[in-house]
This record gives sequence, C-alpha cells and structure tokens, in this order.
Amino acid sequence: MKSHAQAVVIGGGVVGCSVLYHLTKLGWKDCVLLERSELTSGSTWHAAGGMHTVNGDPNVAQLQQYTIKLYEEIQEISGQDIGLHLTGGVMLAGTEDRFDWLKSLHAKGRYLGMETEIISPKEAAEVMPLLDPKHFVGAVYDPIEGHLDPSGTTWAYAKAAQKQGGEIHQQTHVEALHQQEDGTWHIHTSQGDIHAEHVVNAGGLWAREVGKMVGLELPVLAMEHMYLLTEEMAEVTRHNQQSGKQIPHAMDFDGELYLRQEQQGMLMGTYEKACVPWQPDETPWDFSMELLPPDLERITPSLEVGFQHFPAFENAGIKKIINGPFTFAPDGNPLVGPVRELPGYWCACAVMAGFSQGGGVGLALANWMIEGDPGFDVWGMDVSRYGEWITKSYTNVKVRENYSRRFSIRFPNEELPAGRPLRTTPVYDLMLAQGAQMGESFGLEQPLWFAPKGIREEFSWRRSSDFNPVSEEVKAVRDRVGMMETSGFAKYVIQGEDAELWLDQVLACRIPKHGRMCLAPMLNEKGKLVGDFTLTRMDDEDFLLIGSGVAEEYHLRWFSEYLDPELDVHVIPQSSTMLGLAVAGPKSRELMQKVSPYDFSNDYFRFMEMKQVSVGLVECLVGRVSYTGDLGYEIWMEAENQRSVFQTLMQEGESLGIGLFGLRALNSLRLEKNFGSWAREFRPIYGPMEAGLNPFVAYDKEADFIGKEIARKEKEEGGNLRLRTFVVDAKDADVIGDEPIWHEGEVKGWVTSGGFAHGSGVSMAMGYVPREIADQTSGWEIEILNERCSCKLQPKPLFDPEAKIMRG
Ligand SMILES: Cc1cc2nc3c(=O)[nH]c(=O)nc-3n(C[C@H](O)[C@H](O)[C@H](O)COP(=O)(O)OP(=O)(O)OC[C@H]3O[C@@H](n4cnc5c(N)ncnc54)[C@H](O)[C@@H]3O)c2cc1C
Repeated sequence: MKSHAQAVVIGGGVVGCSVLYHLTKLGWKDCVLLERSELTSGSTWHAAGGMHTVNGDPNVAQLQQYTIKLYEEIQEISGQDIGLHLTGGVMLAGTEDRFDWLKSLHAKGRYLGMETEIISPKEAAEVMPLLDPKHFVGAVYDPIEGHLDPSGTTWAYAKAAQKQGGEIHQQTHVEALHQQEDGTWHIHTSQGDIHAEHVVNAGGLWAREVGKMVGLELPVLAMEHMYLLTEEMAEVTRHNQQSGKQIPHAMDFDGELYLRQEQQGMLMGTYEKACVPWQPDETPWDFSMELLPPDLERITPSLEVGFQHFPAFENAGIKKIINGPFTFAPDGNPLVGPVRELPGYWCACAVMAGFSQGGGVGLALANWMIEGDPGFDVWGMDVSRYGEWITKSYTNVKVRENYSRRFSIRFPNEELPAGRPLRTTPVYDLMLAQGAQMGESFGLEQPLWFAPKGIREEFSWRRSSDFNPVSEEVKAVRDRVGMMETSGFAKYVIQGEDAELWLDQVLACRIPKHGRMCLAPMLNEKGKLVGDFTLTRMDDEDFLLIGSGVAEEYHLRWFSEYLDPELDVHVIPQSSTMLGLAVAGPKSRELMQKVSPYDFSNDYFRFMEMKQVSVGLVECLVGRVSYTGDLGYEIWMEAENQRSVFQTLMQEGESLGIGLFGLRALNSLRLEKNFGSWAREFRPIYGPMEAGLNPFVAYDKEADFIGKEIARKEKEEGGNLRLRTFVVDAKDADVIGDEPIWHEGEVKGWVTSGGFAHGSGVSMAMGYVPREIADQTSGWEIEILNERCSCKLQPKPLFDPEAKIMRG
C-alpha cells in the first residue's frame, strides 16, 4: 500500500466502490479504497438487488434515476457482468389514498423527465401476471425498474475505478483516524499507515463506528431485513416463455411487500411492522459474509397478505429465507457530505437502497469533494440535516419507526410520533393547553395549528380538519393581533473586531447601520443561494443573524468553513438559549405599547429596526418585522423568560382579541405576500435573480463577497429560471410542493410550496418556471393529484401590495 493518497475511501460495499469510481472518473486518480475484509462483505453481498426510481423526495428520485442509467456504463468500462435485468415494474395501490400518493409521485416525476404511467389494476395484471387485480385500485408503471447481481455490480464499480487509476486493498482494516495540524488525515490500518487529504466514511454496517473514530455520533442504525426465495414456479416459466421477458418488479405498498423474479422462481421481501434493530450499540468487527437466523413468524402476517395478493405463491415451495442487516438514518435517506469542523472527513453512509442510490451518492459526493459543491440538490440527504441534539436512543426509535412505515403513506399533514417530544421550549405546555397541534422540526416541538375542542387532525391529501381553525388563526392576525412562537428559527450572534469584515464577505447584502435589520442572502462560489437571513447590527462588533431552523447545522458548517483563524470573529449559535415570540396584525402596535413603556409609534420604532426594550418584566430584543407581511414585531428573550413574556402578551392582548397562530397559518399569510422560504423557494440550485432576492444583493459593494462575480453575471444575463406565484383554481386539494407546472400544454416548471391563502380566500402556489415564459399572463396550469387546475400568475402580493401596512 502506498503511504499517501489524495483521498482514502473506507469501505468496499457498493457505496464505497461507487465513490471510488466517481472520484477517479472526475479526475482524482490518486485515490485508495480500504476494505476490512472482502469487497461486499457488509450488507451488500446479500441484498435483493432490486432497483427503482421512486422516492418521496424528487431530488433523491433523480439521483436514483441516474444510478440506474449508470449501470450500462460501468459494465462496459469494467468488463464485469452485473446481471442487469431492466424488467420494468408496477407500484400497486390498494386504497384510494395510496393511489393519490402514487399519482403525486407520477406528477412529480414529470418535470424530472421520468416516464411513469398510471394504469388500472387490470392493466397492472397484464404487465405483472402474478397479481390478483381485485386487491388493488390502481397502479403506476415505471419502465426503469429491475434487478441486478449485487456482487457483480460492486465489482464493476471497483474494476472500472481501478482502470481509472484507483487502488483497492482488501483485508485492510482501518483502525483509527487522526487529523493532523494541517488538516490532513493519518489513517492507521491493519496493514500499516496511509496519509491523505480526504477520508470518506463509506463504512455501511460500521459507519457508526467509523464516525466514532473522529468523535461523531452519526444517526445511523442497522435493521434486520428478510426476503424469501421460492422454488421454481410454473407461472414464472410460462410467462418467460410466452412473453420472452422476465416477470416485472412489483411493489405492493398496502401489502408492504416487494417482489421480483429470481431464476425460475420469485423473491418476496417485506418491511415488517415488528422490526428488529441489529447490534444497536456496536457492530462487531468480526462480522463478515454472515446471515442472521430467519424469523418466519415475524414476517408471516405480511406473507399471508402477499399470498392473497399474488395467489401463485400459495403453491410455491419456499427455498430459502434470507435475513441480513442494513443501515438506515432516522428518515430513511442517506447521510452524505462533509461534517462541521472536520475538514476532509466525508460521509457516504446510511444508504438503505444501495442499488438505487449508490451511483447518485457517489457522484454527488465526488463532485462535492472535487468541486466544493455536490452539483445537485442534495438537501434531502445532506448529513447536516441532523444537529448536535441527535442521540443514539433517538436514532433507534426513529429508525424503527421509519423501517416499520417504509411502505406506509405519510400524508402531507401527518407528523410522525416516535422520538417526541425531544426539544421543547418553556411555553410548550401553555401552547398545548391552548390546543396546539405540534410538529417537530430539527428536533424541536413547534405549534402547527390550534385545534378547538373536539377537532382532531385528519390525515389527507386534500383540505382537512385544520382548514377552518387555520382560517380563524389567519383572521386573528389580519383583523386583530396574533401571536406565534418563533423559537424554531436559528439564531447566531456574530462578535469580534472583524465581525463586520467577515460578514461583508460571507453575506451578499450590505451590512446595516446600528439598530437596523436587513435581508441577507448568502451565496456559494457558484452564485447560488445557500442561505437567506435577517441580519441586525447590534453594535460595532456585535451582530445578530436569524435564519432557517432546519438549516442550522448546514449553516454552522458553512460558517466554520469560511472562518479565517487570522480574523477576530466568533459565531455563537443561540438555538436553545435565545427563544422567540412574534406578534402581528393591526393591533400589534397597541399591544406592544400596553406591555412596554417604550414608544412604538412609527417615528420612534421604524420598520426593520431592532431595539432592546422591556416587555412586561423582561428585557427583550424586539425587531419590527413580520413574515406575515403585516404590521408586526419579533420578540427575542432568554429561554428562562419566555414563559413570562408569553403570559404578559396573552393577558394584555385579551382585550384586543389576541389569537395564537401556528406555522400553517404563517404559511397561509406569507403566501399572499409572495414571500419565499428556505428549503422550498430558496435552495442551492437557484441564483438570487431567479429567486427574486436580487434586490437584497449588493452587487456593487466593495467587499468581494462569496459568489459575487457569478451573481453579477447572473444579473446581467438574467439566469434561466424565475420564481413565480400563482392563484390556483383548486377544488378540494391545494399544492403541497413538487407538482408540475404546465404552460400551453407542456410541463415547464415545478411547484416549490403553496397552500390556501385564507386571508384572500384563494389557493396559491409558488414555483420555478423558465425565464422566457415567466411573464406570460395566460396558459398556466398546475397539476394536483393528477388533475390539471388552471391558474393565474400573481405578480404582486394579494395582501398589501405596496407594503404600506407592513411599514406603516
Ligand atoms: C436482506 C437485504 C436485502 C436488500 N435488498 C436491497 C435491494 O433490493 N435493493 C437495494 O438497493 N438495496 C438492498 N439492500 C440494501 C443494500 O444492501 C445496502 O443499501 C447496501 O449494501 C449499502 O452498501 P454500503 O456500501 O453502504 O454498506 P456495506 O455493504 O455494509 O459496506 C461497507 C463496507 O465497509 C467495510 N468497512 C467498514 N468499516 C471498515 C473499516 N474500519 N475498515 C475497512 N473497511 C471497513 C465493510 O467491511 C463493508 O464491506 C438490502 C439489504 C439487505 C440486508
């Protein structure tokens, strides 16, 4: 083994080999893969080898599509047969709700260029002759599904990588990792040491242990998983002979089963409800190419359903039951990317569908390592979506929940119960007492809406039981005064002699004057949006930055990457120490005046100003800004004082008709202001011109902020896309996100978010469309649950279009 490499990949499963393949393909020839035992000896060798493009996140679905399309390439380069069978497949719905879900996947797939087709149960039975159509209400056919040989595929990546210059060492156990002062890594192995600029954790079943080598608690856990193989089946042979084709893949969501042909028999797998984690504390290092004892009883309920839905199985002999472990993150998506304060340490872990996702994960990670950017929208699988609040027990309950719900529908208004409550604020129980229906984001409980007595959340794709209560919450804001909790925002104090200098380079906005706030887009080197904040200058060397809560770890990683040790600047996260409440609506000024001796008149407290004032008994930071687009104030206080401020505002607000509102009402309010939000409208694939944030970019400021030149170019040339707001002629279902936008009969764009704007009484959607047609006033439609609804471009906000109320 050589003593130095540019990158060392730890782990020779399908994921590690894909990473090595992509690194060497994209130009890093000096890369080494180290495998403890033999290639595939983790979860890879016993996989069922199935592959499909379906994923709830369209960006992950796109990477799955890439993976499947890559197979011919690696087969050709390596000369290794991968046993590829592109049989196509059917995804089956046993209920109307499931069919709605499949239709929504089909619709999302349209703008990604996927060629799925909605078919009837009868048509499904013509495609997949083993199923009994009476158990289904509909299906989606996907031509890009099939199966392959897991070992052959892993070796194909490996051999192709070797041809491109990569080195592979088997029987080489990485025992410890040490980062040097210069940021490079010493990798201690059973075969001697190697030194590298970059290390990749592709440890699969041992990813958690390879994380611990650098002090990381990665949210990853292995679960036992079983599938059965049948003896030869006459029905299979007959179909093969008559059609000249294999039996296509099938995913029976309501039966919680997947099936495919294996030789002249069938393979049937299931994600059983009574699932079992494997080695929840530590994966033994001597585990290799082993199977776990099968537990037929555990999967019997699913198999019984399977035998009804696919009657040919009743007469088939079971040849073998495979039980093997593989890993999951709490939400079932991979954990990919760099880790805060560990430069050169990269994750490619928790890939639960290595044969659908491995190629895309390898490509994204290699791009990230080489170019500094994954090149795709990888938000859904970025390791930074979990923060320091992660614990092993949280991972355990969430992974079990995810596994047992693998084939369950998650409705857009459904919050999953496991691992909650984890993080709560002091007003949590007060909110619950008022009927708060909580949602969890970044581990924190936050009110989504307030249910009047006797009303419960009904999960649905369509408008549900929250519709009228949310409408009342909106009314409280627009007519009187509403209060919500804002603790879920991420808050950072930036201090130091060089704080201003640093912020001027990191943020694209102009740095505000004392006591003033401004909107602050943050760009990457490619001029794309990696953050949208509000920045306040508290003092010469003291700033407050407020941004999206779910992006806290993502942003902290970004800040730490750009922190120059030569500069005197400190980024201090305030997530649990500084909490927030906000009041908004025409009577919000009166309320603030009642609870504070400060003068809140417009002359003294202007829009986008922040001041330290007392609210009841407590000294707070109060900013005159509101995401509702109304007259309003954001109030920040120390955690221990939040309860007191809440009670003061509720008591004093009573005579003004104060009403609590949650995140769903906030969404409704911001829609009629055409305000975008992070992770929906603002993501690292859009430029500021495209996203309409260009008025907040100081293109001509002196500082050479990150992405400046490309952002200027985007401004000159206009960019490719435009964010647009639409009023949708929707019936009983509003957009959720990711629906296709049609123009003149063709799919031209995609929805980023939307919902019902109760204040204006209309259904609204925001989304991206090509710049050339972005100002067309007619011809627009948005597809909701397989129905094309006409819609109208809404260039100006429906509420307070001239922003007089907000500023008044
Ligand atoms: C029963 C079953 C059926 C499945 N069916 C499918 C399917 O149909 N389709 C699908 O897409 N996926 C399927 N999977 C999941 C699939 O197997 C995984 O997604 C995939 O194997 C993950 O690959 P990996 O490279 O991340 O991990 P692994 O295969 O676990 O590879 C990790 C490798 O890293 C090595 N390693 C770890 N630590 C070190 C160290 N310190 N030093 C050196 N080497 C180290 C290990 O020896 C191992 O070889 C199935 C899994 C099971 C168990």
